Amino acid sequence: MKLNKNYSMLKENYLFAEVANRAKKFAEENPTAEIIKLGIGDVTLPICKAAVEAGKAASEEMGKAETFRGYGPYEGYEFLREKIAAYYARRGVKLDLNEIFVSEGAKNDVTGILDLFAVDNIVLAPDPVYPVYVDSNIMDGRKIIFANGNEQNGFLPLPDKKVKADIIYLCSPNNPTGAAYDKAGLKAWVDYANSLGAVILFDAAYEFFISDDRLPHSIYEIDGAKECAVEICSFSKTAGFTGVRLGYMIIPRRLAGGALNSMWLRRQSTKYNGASYIVQRMGEAVFCEEGMKQIKAGVAAYMKNAALMSDTLTKLGIWHTGGVNSPYIWLKCPGGDSWAFFDRLLSGAGIVGTPGAGFGKMGEGYFRLTAFNTFENTSKAMSRLEKLLK
Ligand SMILES: *Cc1c(COP(=O)(O)O)cnc(C)c1O
Repeated sequence: MKLNKNYSMLKENYLFAEVANRAKKFAEENPTAEIIKLGIGDVTLPICKAAVEAGKAASEEMGKAETFRGYGPYEGYEFLREKIAAYYARRGVKLDLNEIFVSEGAKNDVTGILDLFAVDNIVLAPDPVYPVYVDSNIMDGRKIIFANGNEQNGFLPLPDKKVKADIIYLCSPNNPTGAAYDKAGLKAWVDYANSLGAVILFDAAYEFFISDDRLPHSIYEIDGAKECAVEICSFSKTAGFTGVRLGYMIIPRRLAGGALNSMWLRRQSTKYNGASYIVQRMGEAVFCEEGMKQIKAGVAAYMKNAALMSDTLTKLGIWHTGGVNSPYIWLKCPGGDSWAFFDRLLSGAGIVGTPGAGFGKMGEGYFRLTAFNTFENTSKAMSRLEKLLK
């Protein structure tokens, strides 16, 4: 047997381990210090009542011979795909049900779709970046180049026409920077991809956090996107499904003459047996009126935290992006070095965040705070931050 040597090219994912180690060491040395974690990349609010009730009812159905269901459709039940299509239709995006594929989460889709692409494609990813995009391509052995985010472009890099790429990753609103593209920005990427015959893998995991009406929630709000873009979305951050597992991917029939769409169905029917019926009923409930109201309340609670963090940083004169349309705040470290700032925040204010250096070379000098803690803890952390940095 020969091992996949590409795995030896992966960098040790030391970022969150190192964050945890340093926080633990600080806690041991300062047993009375109350540490507030603003590095959390997971949701903390429980799933909404509508989804809980739907899950209970579906379990009951599965427990009765008359209503029991075995394997479901590879692409997901129609009842859920219809809800997803209706959700897109509200923004004027028309999708056929056979363009929607239900899955157990965005990470499965964003990595699984690489099965459909040759290894000699050139991958273009933003820097800073969600590490999954990079690592999954390293595992396959693809060449990766980067579009640099920086303060000048607001961490929303635009395409460089001199650069050639085949597979392009975009994530908007972005993890880690919280920055979100406007229509003109996405249009530039769509035009660039179409001019090259490239595919865009658009990660819309945070679309529900957008509060500015002018910003696109879906790449299909842009003309030409159905010819070049796959969209990946998730119930994880929106509905608190990180432990439940549900997502979906849109593969338009107009993309690559329908080849990607039919290849994905072929791939799924070979490698996958569908998301759980119970969980798909829970997802359906999220899209119902009650469910929508409930998840909006959850997201609003996180966004109140984000607004407080953003206001505090503005008061302190610290450059930052994110927060308004995203649960992430990306700030410029006073003093520059992101690990030095991590230590200063921890020892001076008992706050744990995430150093930007962990998200790529362009992340050095920046820092990510998340809005997933409670309002009480976030407020306490912001008062401490003000005292420390004033
Ligand atoms: C959290 C997150 C996801 C969601 O992944 P799931 O597998 O659906 O939980 C996808 N993309 C980004 C950028 C994320 O931060």
